Amino acid sequence: MPSQRDDCLFCSIVREGNYVRQEKGFVAIKDINPQAPVHLLVIPERHVDTFRDIGEFPAREMKRMLEFVAETAREAGLTDYKVQVNVGPSAGQTVFHLHWHILGTIPHSDAIDHVQTAVVEL
Ligand code: AMP
Ligand code: ZN
Repeated sequence: MPSQRDDCLFCSIVREGNYVRQEKGFVAIKDINPQAPVHLLVIPERHVDTFRDIGEFPAREMKRMLEFVAETAREAGLTDYKVQVNVGPSAGQTVFHLHWHILGTIPHSDAIDHVQTAVVEL
């Protein structure tokens, strides 16, 4: 497993496995304090503090992370949505382990409750 921190909330979540979707290297969880009808977080196993450190990801892993964001949104039933990364405290970052917010609404549906846990091997 890539670099992890003992004192990091999202490293703990990656280890403990309470997620809606998983692929080797990445997990998706429901945000505990949703800001939209569907609010998911994509968290890489690799601990980097912020998006500023994005260069620490190998190119292939970076590509897979972005694909995982898109696949997670699609599996959640979203077609139109926002992908957001808060970078630094004054931009709203509160957890210092890189993560991608997926925010959206599924018309006439509660499909997020039906997202299946998926384990995908590369
Ligand atoms: P940010 O403010 O961009 O760092 O995003 C951190 C997000 O993590 C916030 O939207 C929080 O609601 C969410 N969050 C914090 N703790 C948990 C948790 N234990 N499980 C799920 N989401 C969490
Ligand atoms: Zn971490």
